[in-house]
Amino acid sequence: MVLKIFNSLTKIKEKFFFSYKKIINIYVCGVTTYDFCHIGHARTFLFFDIVIRYLQSLGYQTNYIRNITDIDDKIIHRAQMNHEKVTNFSWRMASEMKKDFYALGLLEPNYEPKVTESISDIILVIKKLIDNKCAYVEKNGDILFSIQSYQKYGQLSRRLLSCFHKQNLETLNNRILFKDFVLWKNCSLVKQEDKINESIWMSPWGLGRPGWHIECSAINHRYCVNGIDIHGGGIDLLFPHHENELAQSFCINQNFPIRYWMHTGMVILNKKKVSKSLNNFITIRNLLLKYHPEVIRFYFLNTHYRHPFYYNEKNLISAKKILIRIYRVILKNHVISLKDAVNYQDNSVRNNFKKQFYNAMNDDFNTPNVCSVLYNLSKYIDKIYLTNILLARLLVNDLLSFGNILGLFTSHPKKFLFKNNTTDSKNLSIINELMELRIYYRHTKQWSQADKIRKKLLTLGVIIEDKKNNSKYRFI
Ligand SMILES: [Zn+2]
Repeated sequence: MVLKIFNSLTKIKEKFFFSYKKIINIYVCGVTTYDFCHIGHARTFLFFDIVIRYLQSLGYQTNYIRNITDIDDKIIHRAQMNHEKVTNFSWRMASEMKKDFYALGLLEPNYEPKVTESISDIILVIKKLIDNKCAYVEKNGDILFSIQSYQKYGQLSRRLLSCFHKQNLETLNNRILFKDFVLWKNCSLVKQEDKINESIWMSPWGLGRPGWHIECSAINHRYCVNGIDIHGGGIDLLFPHHENELAQSFCINQNFPIRYWMHTGMVILNKKKVSKSLNNFITIRNLLLKYHPEVIRFYFLNTHYRHPFYYNEKNLISAKKILIRIYRVILKNHVISLKDAVNYQDNSVRNNFKKQFYNAMNDDFNTPNVCSVLYNLSKYIDKIYLTNILLARLLVNDLLSFGNILGLFTSHPKKFLFKNNTTDSKNLSIINELMELRIYYRHTKQWSQADKIRKKLLTLGVIIEDKKNNSKYRFI
């Protein structure tokens, strides 16, 4: 079972060969901190959280870097609207982002550099690009990257010149070229009062601030010295951001490989792309007010990361119901100790579920299939838990360990069910007592008493299913 990853660069699923002795460098483009994070961010960062968790569960060491874009036109504009200093505003939004990501249960990156803390790295790589004749000073004082200097430009997005909109083109000497992009924006003419805003820096080219794309190349050259193994981000970053980053990184240092490019599909809400600029979004914190973080996680996992995600509250509620059913199965069964597990000989059922789980994960993180495996496993446990207690409990152990790889089932089942407004946690001990009493009445052929208990359980939302030799229950 080898992990296969769809590489956006080659457009095929490639085997992920990697030495366990080495550390996997994962770089994911982070958030521009001008507003609260929304469900589009949740999808991307939840997915890469699962990539990291899975690689770690396979025994790999990871070095996860996610930048914070804390300088940008939108940030400056929003800070001005708020009558707030740019640095204060972006610092505040970055800390709100961290709160949301923590509440979502995301693993923290190993490094989370801000652009404002990386200016010297940015200046250093721009200097290199100028020295390598891949960047030049424009008449207006801006530093531009020369698209012409990188022969393979366009390889990631597979954009042909003919596909470009006119505004992205410029003609020079009758040749059509891709538009050179800004590495460093000249701000020497900025008014004195705006300079106090702390959003400009001194450089060898005068006062200015970095363009957007260069920050990622500068940061990943610093934190991933030997190159990037997995570079991630939302599909909307593929062009121009990642295309430009690929060009810059190669032109800074030709020995800087970026092996696998991974992109998450866009999130669609109300038939439109989720976007702050289109004012079409739901914030993570608003979603967390109504739903448990694991419900949100499980919901996103039900769509493959590369597919568009159509947000729909009805489907979110369905995902919640499935997760509740799985948690109920966990609650009904105690976790067995490893000592007892060793004594159980027949591992065919366990191995079958294990194979299904890993096959799905190794197939380019096919999490919708993984969700089905978890659900089927819980249904199987529920089917056998009275007839084969040992196997049922071992399978619950497996269910928990699969879930943990995905960041699921981290709550105590009672707590989870209580938080999700189910009556299970409060009534479970009563239900178990009534079930035992009913079994006694049935054994002693006291049918009317047994029927009374059946009716009582029904008022607690519990349905009894009588089989030949045993009785099981399920929630309505
Ligand atoms: Zn980036």
